[in-house]
Amino acid sequence: MDDETKYTQHIMTAKSFLPHGKYVNGNGDVDELGREPMLIPFKGSNRELLAVVPAEGILECCPLCEGDIHEGAIVVITDSHNLFPCWECNKLVEQLIEIDLDGLE
Ligand SMILES: [Zn+2]
Repeated sequence: MDDETKYTQHIMTAKSFLPHGKYVNGNGDVDELGREPMLIPFKGSNRELLAVVPAEGILECCPLCEGDIHEGAIVVITDSHNLFPCWECNKLVEQLIEIDLDGLE
């Protein structure tokens, strides 16, 4: 049995993400990120969604377009990267995680 069958998979765009950790799921309904296990494709493989955190405090502005961080904007954290849906340039800004996890203990 393929392990991925327990996950819901979505084609994500910046517009799939809504303020305060909501998103539009594959059926066009609004759902809450992290409520169900979710895989997000990144660099050819699927990454597991671990957490959703407010973008304010992490980002000063969009790293791509330098647009404002909107109220309710979020950063999605997976097991190996983070993803910021920018509603100014409508791009998914993806970065490898460079946080030193040892430093958080
Ligand atoms: Zn942007």
